[in-house]
Amino acid sequence: MRKALVAGNWKMNGSMASNRELLSALKEAIPGSDAVDVAVCPPAVYLPDVRAQLQGGSIAVGGQDCSDETSGAYTGEIAAGMLKEIGCEYVIVGHSERRARQREDSDWVARKFIAAQAAGLVPILCVGEQLADREAGQTEAVVAEQLDAVLDQAGVAAFERGVVAYEPVWAIGTGLTATPEQAAEVHRFIRDRVAARDSSVAGGLRILYGGSVKADNAAGLFALPDIDGGLIGGASLDAGSFVAIVNAAGAARGPGTP
Ligand code: PEP
Repeated sequence: MRKALVAGNWKMNGSMASNRELLSALKEAIPGSDAVDVAVCPPAVYLPDVRAQLQGGSIAVGGQDCSDETSGAYTGEIAAGMLKEIGCEYVIVGHSERRARQREDSDWVARKFIAAQAAGLVPILCVGEQLADREAGQTEAVVAEQLDAVLDQAGVAAFERGVVAYEPVWAIGTGLTATPEQAAEVHRFIRDRVAARDSSVAGGLRILYGGSVKADNAAGLFALPDIDGGLIGGASLDAGSFVAIVNAAGAARGPGTP
């Protein structure tokens, strides 16, 4: 069975003091389990302190983005190797906020995915459609384009050490959530598309759902067979909510789960 992953994307939130308070609550409530991996992805400037606070515990640390380059004249960028050096295990690539604000296209995101893996990080590749895409019946076409760019450039075997997060853009930070049926349909589509290239890689691939996951809707989403956890934005900033979501993922992977 695939081990679930719940990753908190803190986005541009937090402070030294509020991070420490949140982390101390998480450390206490999340002892680590065989059923679910847990990670937090704070803003880059806080990574060293977050890593230090979590030292010796079960919660991993990830970046929110990395450069596709390894070093050089790229002002403001952070290389994947630098994230690795300070103790990150994961990095989010291709988040819809960056695809929109920084105009990251799928080829660029694919290069970031490759750079992350080359540095020894596990990339969490975000894919997902805008509301207009869904209304136009283009959800699968959009997700396929975002996924194929990475499959083509990195090769399907790279997905043995990667994670995909399906995040419908219209559900991010809006309070709207894909229904379990809508999410299940796209998750199945993603797994089938990877399986068309390599069914064993597809079978082991963790596909997370993201988009207004909260304590009260997590269990319904995580119960679905192709949903292997979540990428959590807003609710990851509240210890009680994040712990409840982690517990829901653990329960979905508990005894008797197929
Ligand atoms: C995200 O930004 O990855 C996300 C899923 O945000 P939220 O949970 O706030 O919708």
